[in-house]
Amino acid sequence: MKKIIAIEDKQFELFIEQELIEQEIRRIAERMNAELKGKKPVFIVVLNGAFMFAAELMKQISLPSEITFVRLASYIGTSSSDDVKKIFGLNESIRGRNVVIVEDIVDSGNTLTILIEELKKLKPQEIKIATMLFKPAAQRRKINPDYVAMEIPNDFVVGYGLDYGGQGRNLNNIYRIK
Ligand code: 5GP
Ligand code: MG
Repeated sequence: MKKIIAIEDKQFELFIEQELIEQEIRRIAERMNAELKGKKPVFIVVLNGAFMFAAELMKQISLPSEITFVRLASYIGTSSSDDVKKIFGLNESIRGRNVVIVEDIVDSGNTLTILIEELKKLKPQEIKIATMLFKPAAQRRKINPDYVAMEIPNDFVVGYGLDYGGQGRNLNNIYRIK
């Protein structure tokens, strides 16, 4: 296994190996299976970064459930400094449903704050958050993810779905910037 990799102009060092990542994903999946027992959740996966986490997580979920994928796109708001995000791809109704958002990483918390605001308008019964990675030190908006596979320090990471400039999503370990 490579300890150091290069993507474009940056070097990254091995940080979290696949075996540990998948062990921690299994741990939260088991908690979800227990805590959401009797419910039929709809998992909303935030593309692109969460695709690999979602695949591994969903293999461990034994609840009757549905999975759908959304993309958040920024567009320039009416006043130039607004960073407005809109949800694309959510075609099914989530009214009255138990929603679980599946995210790659919670960093500042801005993305999730906006996503939750938008989803609440669609009147789900409840919204839970599952994230592969959580950077508590980077948090600017108060987000309390219900299911966190791994907490990490405030360093930039790639792999297991996460990219640097579009690359590195296919790496099966997580690497940290040097
Ligand atoms: P937020 O700051 O809104 O919580 O996170 C926004 C998005 O930034 C995340 O969903 C993720 O796509 C990206 N992001 C945050 N931290 C990292 C990181 O360490 N590495 C990579 N590759 N993306 C990150
Ligand atoms: Mg994301």
